[in-house]
Amino acid sequence: AILARAMGIPAVLSVNHATNQIHNGDMVIVDGFKGDVILSPGQEELHAYKEKQALYEREKEELKRFCNLDTVTKNGIKKLVYGNIGKPEDVQLVVQNGGEGIGLFRTEFLFMDRNSQPSEDEQFEAYSTVAKAMNGREVIIRTLDIGGDKEISYLHIEKEENPFLGHRAIRYCLDHTDLFKAQIRAILRAAKYGDLKIMLPLITCKEEVQAAKDLIQTCLEELQTEGEDVHAVPVGIMVETPAAALLSDELAQLADFFSIGTNDLTGYIMAVDRGNQAVSDLYDVMQPPVLRAIEMTVKNAKAAGIPVGMCGEGAADEQLIPMLLEWGLDEFSVSASSILKTRKIISEQNA
Ligand code: PEP
Ligand code: MG
Repeated sequence: AILARAMGIPAVLSVNHATNQIHNGDMVIVDGFKGDVILSPGQEELHAYKEKQALYEREKEELKRFCNLDTVTKNGIKKLVYGNIGKPEDVQLVVQNGGEGIGLFRTEFLFMDRNSQPSEDEQFEAYSTVAKAMNGREVIIRTLDIGGDKEISYLHIEKEENPFLGHRAIRYCLDHTDLFKAQIRAILRAAKYGDLKIMLPLITCKEEVQAAKDLIQTCLEELQTEGEDVHAVPVGIMVETPAAALLSDELAQLADFFSIGTNDLTGYIMAVDRGNQAVSDLYDVMQPPVLRAIEMTVKNAKAAGIPVGMCGEGAADEQLIPMLLEWGLDEFSVSASSILKTRKIISEQNA
């Protein structure tokens, strides 16, 4: 889903019996906006969708005028629209679409589709490539977020009853310090080529942030002893669990910035598995408890004086953006294909 979105490919998930009912050669309309899949459409339907497609293409053309503009609200307040990436190659799409930075580098993609983990040097290559390509603009690198729905076979993560509540992301990394240190060292080494920041996923308590910061400090000192040209980089956290949102006032004292991960936050708050069609109605960022958690997080970040962004899909949500602006969100990190639309929506709203 993440890749399809980044490439602007229409996609609909959780279509029951699709593979039984649809055969090679069938004509199918995939409406990624509404989540509809129409098998063998009639002439009228086909015509209506051809018009819809043409309208979409026109809108895409019109959005291009936002490409080289700053992101400014109607009442003149500067905001940032960043792009989410999974691989260094994705940076091009973000730059082409006028992204002002990278708000989320999902580094787990560097670990996928291979048989062994990438070495520190390979990771250094990837992170420094992104830093250089962004030419001094901010790049937020999220440390390895595996487990849950992101499996990596060679890491031999134990099968769990409830993988989403299990030994994943920061929890796994803090228990596998060799793996974690290799990643941190690679990021610190690459930081001299741009404006890199470290972001920790799935934080639920202060101890995790402190332990990770201690490890980052250790890596920094080790690299300095080895004679590397390194400096400290800001360390932020993802707020994507109810625990982190509820504790955001205290976590803001430890973190240099927040980024709200609405994809996980929505699932955990609503107690719903995002892949389960039977409960998909509840998986909605606009549900009041999710909105309350977001508002609380943004306000606590503001009160502590740290920047707060959003890198979950909510950042591109037309209904949510006006509220985010009202609460004071600083940065919206979205898939490359949503950057221009997000900038346009922000430009039509007051903050
Ligand atoms: C999120 O949970 O909102 C997020 C950005 O992380 P991911 O989608 O990679 O889990
Ligand atoms: Mg997440």
